[in-house]
Amino acid sequence: MAPRLPLRPHSEPLAGRQCVSGTAVLPNEGESQRDKQTQVSVIGGGPAGSAAAISALSVGARVRLFEPSTLPRHKVCGEFLSPEIAPLLDRLGLWQSVLDARPSRIAAIQLHFHNRTRKDILPEAAFGLSRFQFDRILMEGALAQGAELERARGPAQPFTTPTVLAHGRRHAASHPSRLFGFKAHFHGPVDDSTDLFFFPGGYCGVNTVENEITNVCGLASWRVLSRCGFHYDELVHSFPPLARRLAPLTRAMDWLSAGPLVFENRLRAEFGPCVFPAGDALSFVDPFTGTGMTYAVFTGASAGRGATLDPSPVQHLLRCRRALARPTRFSALFREVLLSGWGEKLSPLAPVSWLYRATRPIVCD
Ligand SMILES: Cc1cc2nc3c(=O)[nH]c(=O)nc-3n(C[C@H](O)[C@H](O)[C@H](O)COP(=O)(O)OP(=O)(O)OC[C@H]3O[C@@H](n4cnc5c(N)ncnc54)[C@H](O)[C@@H]3O)c2cc1C
Repeated sequence: MAPRLPLRPHSEPLAGRQCVSGTAVLPNEGESQRDKQTQVSVIGGGPAGSAAAISALSVGARVRLFEPSTLPRHKVCGEFLSPEIAPLLDRLGLWQSVLDARPSRIAAIQLHFHNRTRKDILPEAAFGLSRFQFDRILMEGALAQGAELERARGPAQPFTTPTVLAHGRRHAASHPSRLFGFKAHFHGPVDDSTDLFFFPGGYCGVNTVENEITNVCGLASWRVLSRCGFHYDELVHSFPPLARRLAPLTRAMDWLSAGPLVFENRLRAEFGPCVFPAGDALSFVDPFTGTGMTYAVFTGASAGRGATLDPSPVQHLLRCRRALARPTRFSALFREVLLSGWGEKLSPLAPVSWLYRATRPIVCD
Protein backbone atom coordinates (compact mmCIF):
# COMPACT_ATOMS: atom_id res chain seq x y z
CA MET A 1 0.00 0.00 0.00
CA ALA A 2 1.47 3.37 -0.99
CA PRO A 3 2.15 5.75 1.89
CA ARG A 4 -0.23 8.71 1.88
CA LEU A 5 0.62 12.13 3.15
CA PRO A 6 -1.28 13.57 6.11
CA LEU A 7 -3.93 16.19 5.47
CA ARG A 8 -3.72 19.30 7.60
CA PRO A 9 -6.94 20.93 8.79
CA HIS A 10 -8.23 23.91 6.83
CA SER A 11 -6.81 27.00 8.52
CA GLU A 12 -7.99 30.56 8.89
CA PRO A 13 -8.06 33.15 6.06
CA LEU A 14 -4.79 34.56 4.71
CA ALA A 15 -3.07 37.00 7.01
CA GLY A 16 0.18 38.97 7.12
CA ARG A 17 1.75 40.96 4.31
CA GLN A 18 -0.55 42.25 1.59
CA CYS A 19 0.81 43.11 -1.85
CA VAL A 20 -0.38 46.27 -3.52
CA SER A 21 1.12 47.12 -6.91
CA GLY A 22 4.51 45.64 -6.17
CA THR A 23 4.92 46.93 -2.61
CA ALA A 24 4.41 45.14 0.66
CA VAL A 25 2.16 46.47 3.39
CA LEU A 26 3.61 45.27 6.69
CA PRO A 27 1.41 44.39 9.66
CA ASN A 28 0.73 46.96 12.41
CA GLU A 29 2.66 46.97 15.67
CA GLY A 30 0.85 45.14 18.43
CA GLU A 31 -0.21 42.27 16.25
CA SER A 32 0.74 38.83 17.53
CA GLN A 33 3.96 37.18 16.39
CA ARG A 34 1.89 34.74 14.30
CA ASP A 35 0.07 37.59 12.59
CA LYS A 36 3.40 39.29 11.84
CA GLN A 37 4.65 36.28 9.95
CA THR A 38 4.39 36.61 6.20
CA GLN A 39 1.73 34.25 4.88
CA VAL A 40 2.82 32.65 1.62
CA SER A 41 0.44 30.66 -0.56
CA VAL A 42 2.04 27.98 -2.70
CA ILE A 43 -0.06 26.66 -5.57
CA GLY A 44 1.06 23.16 -6.51
CA GLY A 45 2.71 20.40 -4.46
CA GLY A 46 5.22 19.09 -7.03
CA PRO A 47 9.00 19.58 -6.62
CA ALA A 48 8.81 23.34 -7.27
CA GLY A 49 5.96 23.92 -4.80
CA SER A 50 7.47 21.77 -2.04
CA ALA A 51 10.90 23.41 -2.49
CA ALA A 52 9.20 26.83 -2.32
CA ALA A 53 7.35 25.87 0.85
CA ILE A 54 10.52 24.64 2.61
CA SER A 55 12.48 27.69 1.56
CA ALA A 56 9.73 30.11 2.69
CA LEU A 57 9.37 28.31 6.04
CA SER A 58 13.14 28.45 6.58
CA VAL A 59 13.05 32.26 6.47
CA GLY A 60 10.08 32.55 8.79
CA ALA A 61 6.93 32.47 6.65
CA ARG A 62 3.71 30.61 7.33
CA VAL A 63 2.94 28.50 4.30
CA ARG A 64 -0.31 27.25 2.91
CA LEU A 65 0.34 24.64 0.21
CA PHE A 66 -2.50 23.89 -2.24
CA GLU A 67 -2.45 20.53 -4.03
CA PRO A 68 -5.71 18.89 -5.18
CA SER A 69 -4.23 15.53 -6.30
CA THR A 70 -3.25 12.47 -4.31
CA LEU A 71 0.45 12.44 -3.47
CA PRO A 72 2.82 10.81 -3.90
CA ARG A 73 1.98 9.25 -7.26
CA HIS A 74 3.78 8.03 -10.34
CA LYS A 75 4.28 10.79 -12.90
CA VAL A 76 5.41 10.79 -16.51
CA CYS A 77 9.10 11.62 -16.14
CA GLY A 78 12.50 10.29 -17.20
CA GLU A 79 13.41 10.18 -13.47
CA PHE A 80 16.94 11.34 -14.24
CA LEU A 81 18.30 13.70 -11.58
CA SER A 82 21.10 15.89 -12.87
CA PRO A 83 24.06 16.22 -10.46
CA GLU A 84 23.47 19.95 -9.87
CA ILE A 85 20.40 19.04 -7.84
CA ALA A 86 22.48 17.61 -4.94
CA PRO A 87 23.67 20.93 -3.41
CA LEU A 88 20.22 22.47 -3.94
CA LEU A 89 18.53 19.66 -2.04
CA ASP A 90 21.26 19.72 0.57
CA ARG A 91 20.46 23.37 1.29
CA LEU A 92 16.83 22.35 1.83
CA GLY A 93 17.98 19.60 4.21
CA LEU A 94 16.78 16.82 1.89
CA TRP A 95 19.81 15.34 0.14
CA GLN A 96 20.35 12.67 2.80
CA SER A 97 16.70 11.57 2.39
CA VAL A 98 17.30 11.22 -1.35
CA LEU A 99 20.40 9.09 -0.70
CA ASP A 100 18.42 7.01 1.82
CA ALA A 101 15.97 6.17 -0.99
CA ARG A 102 18.94 4.49 -2.77
CA PRO A 103 18.86 6.25 -6.15
CA SER A 104 20.76 4.54 -8.95
CA ARG A 105 24.05 6.10 -10.04
CA ILE A 106 24.18 7.07 -13.72
CA ALA A 107 27.73 7.40 -15.03
CA ALA A 108 27.38 7.22 -18.82
CA ILE A 109 25.17 8.47 -21.61
CA GLN A 110 24.41 6.75 -24.91
CA LEU A 111 22.70 8.46 -27.83
CA HIS A 112 21.08 6.02 -30.26
CA PHE A 113 20.01 7.02 -33.76
CA HIS A 114 18.83 4.73 -36.53
CA ASN A 115 22.32 3.75 -37.71
CA ARG A 116 24.63 5.26 -35.15
CA THR A 117 25.27 5.07 -31.40
CA ARG A 118 27.48 7.37 -29.34
CA LYS A 119 28.58 6.54 -25.85
CA ASP A 120 30.24 9.02 -23.46
CA ILE A 121 31.05 9.14 -19.79
CA LEU A 122 29.08 11.90 -18.04
CA PRO A 123 31.27 14.74 -16.73
CA GLU A 124 29.70 14.10 -13.30
CA ALA A 125 27.56 11.14 -12.21
CA ALA A 126 23.79 11.70 -12.20
CA PHE A 127 21.07 9.83 -10.28
CA GLY A 128 17.95 7.84 -11.06
CA LEU A 129 15.03 8.11 -8.64
CA SER A 130 11.32 7.53 -9.27
CA ARG A 131 9.00 10.52 -9.09
CA PHE A 132 6.98 8.62 -6.54
CA GLN A 133 9.95 8.74 -4.13
CA PHE A 134 11.27 12.14 -5.18
CA ASP A 135 7.95 13.99 -4.80
CA ARG A 136 7.28 12.15 -1.53
CA ILE A 137 10.60 13.25 -0.03
CA LEU A 138 10.01 16.88 -0.97
CA MET A 139 6.40 16.99 0.18
CA GLU A 140 7.22 15.24 3.47
CA GLY A 141 10.03 17.76 3.96
CA ALA A 142 7.59 20.65 3.50
CA LEU A 143 5.04 19.17 5.90
CA ALA A 144 7.71 18.38 8.48
CA GLN A 145 8.80 22.02 8.41
CA GLY A 146 5.22 23.15 9.07
CA ALA A 147 3.53 23.72 5.71
CA GLU A 148 -0.27 23.49 5.91
CA LEU A 149 -1.48 21.24 3.09
CA GLU A 150 -4.87 21.91 1.55
CA ARG A 151 -6.26 19.32 -0.81
CA ALA A 152 -7.75 21.92 -3.12
CA ARG A 153 -6.88 23.96 -6.17
CA GLY A 154 -5.19 27.20 -5.26
CA PRO A 155 -6.98 30.55 -5.43
CA ALA A 156 -7.17 32.22 -8.84
CA GLN A 157 -5.67 35.55 -9.97
CA PRO A 158 -5.55 38.37 -9.00
CA PHE A 159 -3.41 37.65 -5.92
CA THR A 160 -3.14 40.21 -3.14
CA THR A 161 -0.74 38.30 -0.88
CA PRO A 162 2.62 36.67 -1.78
CA THR A 163 1.89 33.64 -3.92
CA VAL A 164 4.19 31.05 -5.46
CA LEU A 165 2.78 29.71 -8.73
CA ALA A 166 4.02 26.12 -9.02
CA HIS A 167 1.12 24.39 -10.75
CA GLY A 168 3.25 22.75 -13.43
CA ARG A 169 3.09 23.13 -17.18
CA ARG A 170 0.09 24.13 -19.23
CA HIS A 171 -1.56 21.55 -21.46
CA ALA A 172 -2.86 23.18 -24.62
CA ALA A 173 -1.03 22.91 -27.95
CA SER A 174 -2.21 23.10 -31.50
CA HIS A 175 -2.79 19.98 -33.57
CA PRO A 176 -0.86 18.23 -35.23
CA SER A 177 2.42 19.33 -33.70
CA ARG A 178 1.16 18.16 -30.31
CA LEU A 179 3.62 16.09 -28.28
CA PHE A 180 2.70 13.53 -25.63
CA GLY A 181 4.84 11.97 -22.91
CA PHE A 182 4.65 8.32 -21.82
CA LYS A 183 6.38 6.24 -19.19
CA ALA A 184 6.44 2.80 -17.53
CA HIS A 185 8.68 0.91 -15.13
CA PHE A 186 10.29 -2.37 -16.15
CA HIS A 187 12.00 -5.27 -14.34
CA GLY A 188 15.16 -6.93 -15.64
CA PRO A 189 18.90 -6.35 -15.96
CA VAL A 190 20.14 -2.88 -14.99
CA ASP A 191 23.16 -0.76 -15.89
CA ASP A 192 24.66 2.66 -15.10
CA SER A 193 23.91 4.39 -18.39
CA THR A 194 21.12 6.69 -19.52
CA ASP A 195 20.18 5.67 -23.05
CA LEU A 196 18.40 8.11 -25.33
CA PHE A 197 16.81 6.75 -28.51
CA PHE A 198 15.91 9.28 -31.19
CA PHE A 199 13.42 8.28 -33.88
CA PRO A 200 11.51 10.47 -36.36
CA GLY A 201 8.90 12.44 -34.42
CA GLY A 202 10.06 11.49 -30.93
CA TYR A 203 12.56 10.03 -28.52
CA CYS A 204 12.68 7.68 -25.56
CA GLY A 205 15.00 7.51 -22.54
CA VAL A 206 15.91 4.38 -20.58
CA ASN A 207 17.67 4.44 -17.21
CA THR A 208 17.70 2.64 -13.90
CA VAL A 209 16.05 4.09 -10.79
CA GLU A 210 15.96 2.76 -7.20
CA ASN A 211 15.36 -0.93 -6.40
CA GLU A 212 16.81 -2.12 -9.74
CA ILE A 213 13.81 -0.79 -11.64
CA THR A 214 14.31 0.49 -15.18
CA ASN A 215 12.33 3.56 -16.20
CA VAL A 216 11.34 3.93 -19.84
CA CYS A 217 10.01 7.36 -20.70
CA GLY A 218 9.51 9.03 -24.04
CA LEU A 219 7.89 11.77 -25.95
CA ALA A 220 6.31 11.51 -29.39
CA SER A 221 4.18 13.59 -31.72
CA TRP A 222 0.49 12.98 -32.14
CA ARG A 223 1.20 11.88 -35.73
CA VAL A 224 3.62 9.14 -34.64
CA LEU A 225 1.36 7.98 -31.80
CA SER A 226 -1.79 7.89 -33.87
CA ARG A 227 -0.01 5.63 -36.41
CA CYS A 228 0.31 2.98 -33.66
CA GLY A 229 -3.08 3.75 -32.10
CA PHE A 230 -1.43 5.21 -28.99
CA HIS A 231 -0.15 1.72 -28.11
CA TYR A 232 3.12 2.48 -26.40
CA ASP A 233 4.40 -1.13 -26.51
CA GLU A 234 3.98 -1.07 -30.27
CA LEU A 235 5.70 2.30 -30.51
CA VAL A 236 8.79 1.34 -28.47
CA HIS A 237 9.17 -1.95 -30.35
CA SER A 238 8.88 -0.27 -33.76
CA PHE A 239 12.35 1.31 -33.44
CA PRO A 240 14.91 -1.55 -33.70
CA PRO A 241 17.66 -0.12 -31.41
CA LEU A 242 15.07 0.54 -28.67
CA ALA A 243 13.40 -2.85 -29.17
CA ARG A 244 16.81 -4.52 -28.67
CA ARG A 245 17.42 -2.51 -25.46
CA LEU A 246 14.02 -3.51 -24.04
CA ALA A 247 14.15 -7.17 -25.11
CA PRO A 248 15.43 -8.52 -21.74
CA LEU A 249 13.01 -6.32 -19.73
CA THR A 250 9.43 -6.98 -18.56
CA ARG A 251 6.97 -4.14 -18.06
CA ALA A 252 5.99 -3.79 -14.37
CA MET A 253 3.17 -1.23 -14.58
CA ASP A 254 0.64 0.18 -17.05
CA TRP A 255 1.90 2.92 -19.33
CA LEU A 256 1.19 6.44 -18.05
CA SER A 257 0.78 9.28 -20.51
CA ALA A 258 0.73 13.06 -20.30
CA GLY A 259 0.03 15.88 -22.66
CA PRO A 260 -0.34 17.58 -24.99
CA LEU A 261 2.94 19.09 -23.80
CA VAL A 262 3.66 22.77 -24.26
CA PHE A 263 7.27 23.93 -24.22
CA GLU A 264 7.10 27.35 -22.69
CA ASN A 265 9.70 29.83 -21.69
CA ARG A 266 8.01 32.47 -19.53
CA LEU A 267 11.25 33.81 -18.07
CA ARG A 268 10.38 37.27 -19.42
CA ALA A 269 6.60 37.13 -18.94
CA GLU A 270 4.66 39.51 -16.63
CA PHE A 271 3.12 37.68 -13.69
CA GLY A 272 1.84 40.42 -11.41
CA PRO A 273 3.12 42.24 -8.33
CA CYS A 274 3.13 39.46 -5.74
CA VAL A 275 3.33 36.40 -7.95
CA PHE A 276 6.50 34.28 -7.75
CA PRO A 277 6.41 31.64 -10.52
CA ALA A 278 8.50 28.46 -10.24
CA GLY A 279 9.15 25.14 -11.96
CA ASP A 280 7.30 24.29 -15.15
CA ALA A 281 4.85 27.15 -14.50
CA LEU A 282 7.81 29.46 -15.18
CA SER A 283 9.59 27.52 -17.88
CA PHE A 284 9.05 23.99 -19.19
CA VAL A 285 12.37 22.79 -20.57
CA ASP A 286 12.98 19.94 -22.95
CA PRO A 287 12.75 16.67 -21.02
CA PHE A 288 15.70 14.98 -22.76
CA THR A 289 18.07 17.32 -20.89
CA GLY A 290 17.01 15.77 -17.57
CA THR A 291 17.08 19.14 -15.83
CA GLY A 292 13.38 19.86 -15.17
CA MET A 293 13.52 18.76 -11.54
CA THR A 294 16.74 20.70 -10.93
CA TYR A 295 15.08 23.80 -12.41
CA ALA A 296 12.00 23.14 -10.29
CA VAL A 297 13.97 22.92 -7.03
CA PHE A 298 16.14 25.93 -7.88
CA THR A 299 13.29 28.22 -8.97
CA GLY A 300 11.03 26.91 -6.19
CA ALA A 301 13.59 27.67 -3.48
CA SER A 302 14.18 31.13 -4.96
CA ALA A 303 10.43 31.80 -5.20
CA GLY A 304 9.72 30.72 -1.61
CA ARG A 305 12.48 32.88 -0.21
CA GLY A 306 11.55 35.82 -2.43
CA ALA A 307 7.84 35.60 -1.60
CA THR A 308 8.74 35.82 2.10
CA LEU A 309 11.42 38.50 2.04
CA ASP A 310 11.06 40.62 -1.10
CA PRO A 311 8.31 43.12 -1.79
CA SER A 312 8.28 42.25 -5.50
CA PRO A 313 9.26 39.26 -7.67
CA VAL A 314 11.77 41.26 -9.73
CA GLN A 315 14.91 39.84 -8.05
CA HIS A 316 13.52 36.29 -8.14
CA LEU A 317 12.81 36.56 -11.86
CA LEU A 318 16.28 37.98 -12.53
CA ARG A 319 17.89 35.12 -10.61
CA CYS A 320 15.91 32.58 -12.62
CA ARG A 321 16.75 34.26 -15.93
CA ARG A 322 20.47 34.27 -15.10
CA ALA A 323 20.38 30.57 -14.29
CA LEU A 324 18.06 29.31 -16.99
CA ALA A 325 17.98 31.56 -20.07
CA ARG A 326 21.03 30.12 -21.83
CA PRO A 327 20.42 26.38 -21.18
CA THR A 328 16.73 26.81 -22.07
CA ARG A 329 17.67 28.32 -25.46
CA PHE A 330 20.22 25.58 -26.19
CA SER A 331 17.77 22.84 -25.19
CA ALA A 332 15.07 24.18 -27.50
CA LEU A 333 17.58 24.31 -30.37
CA PHE A 334 18.75 20.74 -29.75
CA ARG A 335 15.13 19.53 -29.62
CA GLU A 336 14.45 21.00 -33.06
CA VAL A 337 17.61 19.37 -34.44
CA LEU A 338 16.83 16.00 -32.87
CA LEU A 339 13.15 15.85 -33.82
CA SER A 340 13.91 16.95 -37.39
CA GLY A 341 16.16 13.91 -37.89
CA TRP A 342 19.40 15.93 -38.21
CA GLY A 343 20.75 14.60 -34.90
CA GLU A 344 22.20 11.48 -36.54
CA LYS A 345 24.16 13.51 -39.12
CA LEU A 346 25.36 16.12 -36.64
CA SER A 347 26.12 13.90 -33.64
CA PRO A 348 29.72 13.06 -34.68
CA LEU A 349 30.54 16.77 -34.80
CA ALA A 350 29.90 17.73 -31.18
CA PRO A 351 31.16 15.87 -28.10
CA VAL A 352 28.23 14.63 -25.97
CA SER A 353 29.91 16.19 -22.91
CA TRP A 354 29.69 19.61 -24.62
CA LEU A 355 26.00 19.14 -25.49
CA TYR A 356 25.41 17.98 -21.92
CA ARG A 357 27.14 21.02 -20.40
CA ALA A 358 25.33 23.47 -22.69
CA THR A 359 21.96 22.38 -21.30
CA ARG A 360 22.92 22.54 -17.60
CA PRO A 361 21.41 25.27 -15.43
CA ILE A 362 23.85 27.74 -13.84
CA VAL A 363 22.67 27.31 -10.28
CA CYS A 364 25.66 28.33 -8.19
CA ASP A 365 24.30 31.57 -6.59
C1 LIG B 1 8.10 13.18 -20.76
C2 LIG B 1 8.82 13.95 -19.69
C3 LIG B 1 10.05 13.49 -19.20
C4 LIG B 1 10.74 14.22 -18.23
N1 LIG B 1 11.92 13.73 -17.76
C5 LIG B 1 12.62 14.43 -16.83
C6 LIG B 1 13.85 13.91 -16.30
O1 LIG B 1 14.29 12.82 -16.63
N2 LIG B 1 14.52 14.68 -15.39
C7 LIG B 1 14.05 15.90 -14.97
O2 LIG B 1 14.72 16.55 -14.16
N3 LIG B 1 12.88 16.39 -15.43
C8 LIG B 1 12.15 15.68 -16.35
N4 LIG B 1 10.96 16.15 -16.80
C9 LIG B 1 10.50 17.46 -16.32
C10 LIG B 1 9.92 17.38 -14.91
O3 LIG B 1 8.93 16.39 -14.87
C11 LIG B 1 9.30 18.75 -14.56
O4 LIG B 1 10.19 19.77 -14.92
C12 LIG B 1 8.97 18.82 -13.07
O5 LIG B 1 7.96 17.90 -12.76
C13 LIG B 1 8.50 20.23 -12.72
O6 LIG B 1 8.03 20.26 -11.40
P1 LIG B 1 6.84 21.25 -10.99
O7 LIG B 1 6.73 21.16 -9.53
O8 LIG B 1 7.05 22.57 -11.64
O9 LIG B 1 5.55 20.66 -11.72
P2 LIG B 1 4.76 19.30 -11.46
O10 LIG B 1 5.67 18.20 -11.10
O11 LIG B 1 3.91 19.14 -12.68
O12 LIG B 1 3.85 19.60 -10.20
C14 LIG B 1 2.79 20.52 -10.27
C15 LIG B 1 1.77 20.16 -9.22
O13 LIG B 1 0.77 21.20 -9.18
C16 LIG B 1 -0.51 20.60 -9.02
N5 LIG B 1 -1.51 21.56 -9.56
C17 LIG B 1 -1.87 21.76 -10.85
N6 LIG B 1 -2.80 22.74 -10.92
C18 LIG B 1 -3.01 23.16 -9.65
C19 LIG B 1 -3.86 24.16 -9.05
N7 LIG B 1 -4.66 24.94 -9.78
N8 LIG B 1 -3.84 24.33 -7.71
C20 LIG B 1 -3.01 23.55 -6.93
N9 LIG B 1 -2.19 22.59 -7.45
C21 LIG B 1 -2.19 22.40 -8.77
C22 LIG B 1 -0.42 19.29 -9.79
O14 LIG B 1 -1.35 18.33 -9.30
C23 LIG B 1 1.04 18.86 -9.52
O15 LIG B 1 1.16 17.98 -8.41
C24 LIG B 1 10.21 15.43 -17.75
C25 LIG B 1 8.97 15.89 -18.20
C26 LIG B 1 8.27 15.16 -19.16
C27 LIG B 1 6.94 15.66 -19.64
